[in-house]
Amino acid sequence: MSDNGHEKASNGVAVEDVPGRDYPLYRVEPGERASLGTIDPDETEHYRKKKDVARELERQRRRIQGLQARLYAENERGLLIVLQAMDTGGKDGTIKHVFSGVNPQGCRVSSFKKPSAEETNHDFLWRYHKSAPARGRIGIFNRSHYEDVLVVRVKGLVPEEVWRERYRQINDFERNLSNDGITVLKFFLHISRDEQKRRLQSRLDNPDKRWKFSSADIKERAFWDDYQAAFEDALTNCSTQHAPWYVVPANKKWYRNLVVARTIADTLATIDPQFPPAEEGLERVKIPD
Ligand code: AMP
Ligand code: MG
Repeated sequence: MSDNGHEKASNGVAVEDVPGRDYPLYRVEPGERASLGTIDPDETEHYRKKKDVARELERQRRRIQGLQARLYAENERGLLIVLQAMDTGGKDGTIKHVFSGVNPQGCRVSSFKKPSAEETNHDFLWRYHKSAPARGRIGIFNRSHYEDVLVVRVKGLVPEEVWRERYRQINDFERNLSNDGITVLKFFLHISRDEQKRRLQSRLDNPDKRWKFSSADIKERAFWDDYQAAFEDALTNCSTQHAPWYVVPANKKWYRNLVVARTIADTLATIDPQFPPAEEGLERVKIPD
């Protein structure tokens, strides 16, 4: 470790900025009540515009790429990234911008919609567990098991005593994953009500975006406060040491991308995956003609 706290592994992959216990920004501290009203969706640190973060975002993407290569080669640990947000919150855009350049072989995105008849016939965690990442892989959940305490709660799809019990079941599930080497990292992309209005309107106004609009989005928007309350309970009950939640200010897409990329890179750095040792003496081997 050098004076400035930065470190370079022997393979040249930067492992600087390994987070301390109080890092990073925006983590919901386990045991503390998450209060979305106190977190400004417009926050951008000292950055003012997209151009200001371009280099830093690229640096964080490269950290992710280098660390993912080691995670894959090591084939011992995995990372599950959960993305949740209000409609138009930017889950798709985050995936596109943060994971561009990541080797697709080591990475899988799973998107969860309304459960199928078969999925409904199983316990609620079944479809999520099936999609959990294998060792060496990064799994990205675009929506997740949290829908079962969000939309399911807001829409009253199961009785309260059923969804209330799910916080504990979710914590147990995530603890099992992390005990078995699969780190769980969860992001709530936090937009304001006004920003959602702008984004929905622009989906309507732009013919190339119209396919993303569903009339149901307007109905869901009417439940804004109920969803915010459901999110606050999920963040409060399920931000744990082994599977923390991060509330990412997400009105500015470029800042959201930076925060998510940085937090993923820092988490991978903490996992600190290693290339497996090579066979002895390989450096002397010459391939015969
Ligand atoms: P989208 O992500 O826009 O394609 O929409 C997917 C839809 O599936 C959203 O309206 C979600 O609320 C819904 N959905 C996802 N998971 C569940 C679930 N477990 N139960 C009911 N609806 C769900
Ligand atoms: Mg939608």
